[in-house]
Amino acid sequence: MTGHLGRRAWLASLGTMLAASGAKGRSEPQAPVVAAQPAAGTLTLADFQPRSMLVVSETRVERARFPVVDVHTHPTFRVRSVGGIPHGEAVRVNTTPPELLPLMDRRNLRTLVSLTGGVGTGLAESVRTFQQPHPDRFVVFTEPSYDRIADKGYAAWQADELARARQAGAKGVKVLKVLGLFLREQVTTGPLVKIDDPRFDPMWEACGALGLPVAIHISDPTAFFLPVDAHNERYEELNEHPDWSFHGKDYPSDADLLAARDRVLARHPKTTFIGLHVGHSSENLAGAASALDRFPNLHVEIAARIGELGRQPRASQRFFDKYQDRILFGTDGPQDDLYPIYFRFLETEDEYFDYGGGKVPDQGRWRIYGLGLSDTILKKVYSQNAERILSLAPIRA
Ligand SMILES: [Zn+2]
Repeated sequence: MTGHLGRRAWLASLGTMLAASGAKGRSEPQAPVVAAQPAAGTLTLADFQPRSMLVVSETRVERARFPVVDVHTHPTFRVRSVGGIPHGEAVRVNTTPPELLPLMDRRNLRTLVSLTGGVGTGLAESVRTFQQPHPDRFVVFTEPSYDRIADKGYAAWQADELARARQAGAKGVKVLKVLGLFLREQVTTGPLVKIDDPRFDPMWEACGALGLPVAIHISDPTAFFLPVDAHNERYEELNEHPDWSFHGKDYPSDADLLAARDRVLARHPKTTFIGLHVGHSSENLAGAASALDRFPNLHVEIAARIGELGRQPRASQRFFDKYQDRILFGTDGPQDDLYPIYFRFLETEDEYFDYGGGKVPDQGRWRIYGLGLSDTILKKVYSQNAERILSLAPIRA
């Protein structure tokens, strides 16, 4: 039998037979279902699901110790995109204040910042839905209109458009990784447009003059720029999402993208930038520190990077200590079940725990360690830094 079916198939059919016999309602106790022991050398990476035998403390942190501003959420998105580039003004509202407010109250989220608030009529809808009825609980950002980049006079128009967006209620500007990785001279065709292209200079300057901070996503995880092979630490993730790889073709390197960003930061010192995802240097905190040292107008936020920060807890603790006034809290949500993991990471000294909810960790097969931040630093990271940068309305009693 085993020779015919192979050992795995045989064990699977045995499992089916055991399950079928258990369904007959017999009263004698059932033998516990034991996971099949694969033949030596046949276990696949996907099937390897080790359970940690460490006996260490596990803290559930359902509610943040202090009020939180999540500066990185997406309750709305532009409806249309072509080649990854948002087109037109229409936005899709994914969730609404009546759905979000109970979650926010339960988790102790003071305010959510909706980064992809859209442009034009879409922005107006975002503001009307979230920020206008609840100015202390929701903040809406606008976005550049890259679909117009090939238009004559784009540079000046974009700067003026940001002034109109501010008038319509926008509190900041979100720059997607589209810039540097997708946007091309004729929007979806032609050479890639550089991050430090002078056509954007009036836009960056307008952000500074209008007091609109720029939440900027430049580049992506370092491993996304490397061959998707046996040495790539995010192999499973890239295998699952092949379009997330920026290796080859005409893509610039990770280092080139960050260098272009740095030239923008240097050229526009009066504009405040929030480097999303730890400024895309979470694998290299010395690099993030160097950027923060060189550019006083740069801040960073931590969304989707606790997997990186938490696997180097000592370096991260030093980083939070030194840059405690320039780190903001974000999640790339809002996703209810993720908040306790973020809170646990920042508030506790728990060891070796999952940073995501999946069967296999999303970003790689490792676990993380809590930072146990002091109350002073927690308050800054959770809300005070964001309140200062975004000039947030005081919370209503
Ligand atoms: Zn995001």
